[in-house]
Amino acid sequence: MDTTMEDFLTPELEIRRLKSELRKTQRKLEHLERDRRIMAAMFDQSIRLRDLKDAEAKKQAYYTSTILDNCPEFIFLLNKELVVLLTTDYFYQTAGLTTPITDLPLRQALSSILSEAWINKLEELAHTVIATKETTSLIERIDFGKASGSIYELLMNPTINPADGTVFGVILIFRDITALVEAKERAEAADVAKSNFLANMSHEIRTPLNAIMGLTEFILRDALTPSVKDYAAQIKDSSQTLLAIINDILDFSKIEAGRLEIINTEFQLSSLIHTVNNVVTPFIQKKKLDFKLQVDPSLPKVLFADEQRLQQILLNLLTNAIKYTSKGSVNLKLWGEPLPTADPASPNRKLRFFASVTDTGIGIKAKDQDKIFQSFIRADTTRNRSITGTGLGLSISQMLAHAMHGKITLESVYGQGSTFTFSVECEAVGTERIGAFAAEGAETRTRAFKCSFRAPRLKLLIVDDNLINLSVAEGIFAPYQCHITTASSGSEAIELAQRHAYDIIFMDHMMPVMNGIEAMHHIRCLPGYAETPIIALTANAIRGMRETYLAEGFSEYLSKPINLAEADSLLSKFTPAAYKLQPAAASSRPSQAEDTETLKLVYKEGIEKIQLLPRLLQESDLDNYTIQVHSLKSVAALIGETELSEAAQSHEQAGKEGRKEYIEQELPQLLKCYQGVLARIEQKLAATAAVSKPQPCKKVSEDELLLLSQRMEQALDSFDLDAFAELVQEARQIHLSDQQASCLSSMEEALTNFDFDRLSELLPSFKH
Ligand code: ADP
Repeated sequence: MDTTMEDFLTPELEIRRLKSELRKTQRKLEHLERDRRIMAAMFDQSIRLRDLKDAEAKKQAYYTSTILDNCPEFIFLLNKELVVLLTTDYFYQTAGLTTPITDLPLRQALSSILSEAWINKLEELAHTVIATKETTSLIERIDFGKASGSIYELLMNPTINPADGTVFGVILIFRDITALVEAKERAEAADVAKSNFLANMSHEIRTPLNAIMGLTEFILRDALTPSVKDYAAQIKDSSQTLLAIINDILDFSKIEAGRLEIINTEFQLSSLIHTVNNVVTPFIQKKKLDFKLQVDPSLPKVLFADEQRLQQILLNLLTNAIKYTSKGSVNLKLWGEPLPTADPASPNRKLRFFASVTDTGIGIKAKDQDKIFQSFIRADTTRNRSITGTGLGLSISQMLAHAMHGKITLESVYGQGSTFTFSVECEAVGTERIGAFAAEGAETRTRAFKCSFRAPRLKLLIVDDNLINLSVAEGIFAPYQCHITTASSGSEAIELAQRHAYDIIFMDHMMPVMNGIEAMHHIRCLPGYAETPIIALTANAIRGMRETYLAEGFSEYLSKPINLAEADSLLSKFTPAAYKLQPAAASSRPSQAEDTETLKLVYKEGIEKIQLLPRLLQESDLDNYTIQVHSLKSVAALIGETELSEAAQSHEQAGKEGRKEYIEQELPQLLKCYQGVLARIEQKLAATAAVSKPQPCKKVSEDELLLLSQRMEQALDSFDLDAFAELVQEARQIHLSDQQASCLSSMEEALTNFDFDRLSELLPSFKH
């Protein structure tokens, strides 16, 4: 066979081809090796990751079980069939369970340690939670096995699958709150004890305080020197402040202790307004503020509400307004709005009663406006440092308003003033409106007291055993130009009432022989006196006295010393409307203690008393002896006779203590002193008479005299007694006939009695 070139080349090519393939295969191998290494690395990594995840899961499971094992609560995880899936170790330990309850139905799991009733209740609740998907809770005492006597808060939550919102069971959490409940009960008991303590203490403090205030009134009346009077006035002011604070604390503690009572009664709205007006008037006058009262005439005449509490809120807002206002005005506005009446059968209409108190005082910063309604919070304390207060008034008022289904709101501009408005729900009794009050009393400016009407047809009887008190009372009622008759004993009053018809009787309580209550009962039995207003006069101004007097049969009561505004509102209340006339332009003032009239009275009384005292002692009538020396004590002090006043006081004390020997021994000395006083009065009266001897009289023409008598007639026609008195003085300066002079003296006497009828009778004789 021939060997060709080709035969040489072919293996060479083959070798090259094979080498190239080998290289490719080697590269593939390298790739495969690299992939294998990567795969191995990834595998390692995944193994590591899986281990890590297992460790994390184990850690989480450990944490959860640690929490559950240490959780001081009983927790049960139940499925929808109420099979226990999980519970806490604490439950096993506390309830004393030794066998596991997991995978058991709840009933079976708890049957050995919980009553059937409770198991039923738990099952029922769990079914409801599953059905409604709503959480429920309760606080009850539950006895779990040996863990008895504890109070638990049970919380039951549905367990919900977040993926589809389906309920897969329920979780029960029992938290033992026995200690908490006991602590709360202890705290509440302590709180009630505190409130009771405050209430009792306030009461205890108030009792002696009343005595201090009452006795201070006596010192004020009987004080012998201006400085003692001044000290007494300061004691009175401070006692009043203290009393207001104590009343606030008492109220606050009552409210705190849940003992606030709202007592609704029927009452005349006008009487509430008068009372409030009378209380605030002196303070308004003292600070020279203007007071404007606006009463919506369409308000009902009679309300059904808690009068005392309404008054308390009104007075609190008004006294605050006065306290925090140094100049300008305080306005009180009252109005109402009808409310739908719940009971259509009820004759009363429901009503929202509003009152707003506006002042031009210091105002309240916006940031303080909510705070001041909280207890013990006072605003602007640097500016208000000198103004006394507890920070309780507004919070009490707000609580009272809430209790009456109302509230207090405030609008205020700092530096300009404030308006507090309160509203409460109440009822209108009947259909009559207060209108008349608006005509009579609205828009009253009360800078100085002025009697609100005249009633020349009114017949008053004033009964008091003390002549000085009678004279003071006469002076107080004089500006009303009514007929005033006085009686100095109960029997005299009865006798007078038998013979005359009086429209109103003022009756002192403490009188010798027959006291005011007995006299009132006798008068009530006289024909025509069953309904006559008989008003008790008393220095016994203790709270509750009014009710006592009313229960006895009095129509009202007026405390001594008589307050002009109170007297005015009482007189106005009981004077028939037909008798009332516009008030006189100028009102005469009550006479001063040292004036001649008073001295004459003291003298007249003295002459009688100097004989009466030994007689009473002889009859061993120490009660009436004490009453007599009691009044002598104040009368003597009133005219500046210190020694006699002090002696009378010692006798009064001895009388009260039944020390007759002392009185027997000391009476001669007292009488000697009394005689000395009467002698001095006699001298004084003689001197006054000498000083007031008529001046040389001027002669006047017939015409001038006629003109004078015409002016007198005019003054009489307009019931202007002051003008009439001035004209009488004028007449005294001129030369008169004997008949005219005696007529003028009779006029003077009639003037002192405010006897219009007599003056009208006398005037024609004076003219001729
Ligand atoms: P009190 O007056 O006894 O301090 P209140 O509770 O009655 O207590 O009032 C709380 C505070 O509200 C007062 O201390 C005062 O700062 C403020 N306040 C109340 N009324 C007025 C008012 N009319 N004008 C200005 N400030 C007032």
